[in-house]
Amino acid sequence: MPELPEVEVTRRSFADRIAGARIVSVQLGKPLRWALGCDASALVGRTVLCVTRRGKYLLVHLDAGVLLLHLGMSGSLQFAPVLPPRGGHDHFELGTSRGCLRLHDPRRFGAVVFADSLDDPRALKLLERLGVEPLEAGFDPLLFYRALRLRRSSIKQVLLAGNTVVGVGNIYASEALFMAGIRPTTRADRLSKLRAARLHAAIVEVLQRAVALGGSTLHDFSSAEGQSGYFQLDARVYGREGLPCRVCETPIRGIRQGQRSTFFCPQCQKP
Ligand SMILES: [Zn+2]
Repeated sequence: MPELPEVEVTRRSFADRIAGARIVSVQLGKPLRWALGCDASALVGRTVLCVTRRGKYLLVHLDAGVLLLHLGMSGSLQFAPVLPPRGGHDHFELGTSRGCLRLHDPRRFGAVVFADSLDDPRALKLLERLGVEPLEAGFDPLLFYRALRLRRSSIKQVLLAGNTVVGVGNIYASEALFMAGIRPTTRADRLSKLRAARLHAAIVEVLQRAVALGGSTLHDFSSAEGQSGYFQLDARVYGREGLPCRVCETPIRGIRQGQRSTFFCPQCQKP
């Protein structure tokens, strides 16, 4: 599943190139998770101003309105002057004066939604409950600690919920908790200020490093130029059940938390 670093890497791979492009055509494939919400032909003639990101949504700002793109479980975007003919899993395509932006999504949990603005109820419904952006200045150690004080769930589940800090998915939550020496099952409201600060720093570091590496390729991720990342080579706990911890050589444990798999070192990560 594309996580925040993959989405950010995707954004950077085409944002500059598509800015200023005029939309000349829109092609829809099979239905995605949510309907587009406007007549596709109404987008023709509009201009792409810029592409930003909120959580795992890419926001393609137009001179009138905004497209919210989500990659779902298996989505990837390509942007190139010319693309090969559309295949059976290519469900959205924006032809522009600078090239073609195409969403490839075999499982169709992704979506492209049009809204008149980010204040439009259609946009608010998707964005308003998202937590702070982890790679922006608003993600502050003390505010993070205070937010965790209000949560009784396990810290791993609080991170995955996305309403405290957004976009820390399963891989990066596991890795950040390892870096911070915190057992994933620890209750969020039991973390000391110091441990919360360590976790804050670990989240920033693990996400920044992943963005720098170009995102992970654990599933179908590929950036808009079809390059792939290699973050998984760097994983210290994720997917390493039974293998020796890279720090202390204790076998890494795998458990289920919520519906998700969690990995941790029972020696390095304290409850
Ligand atoms: Zn260890």
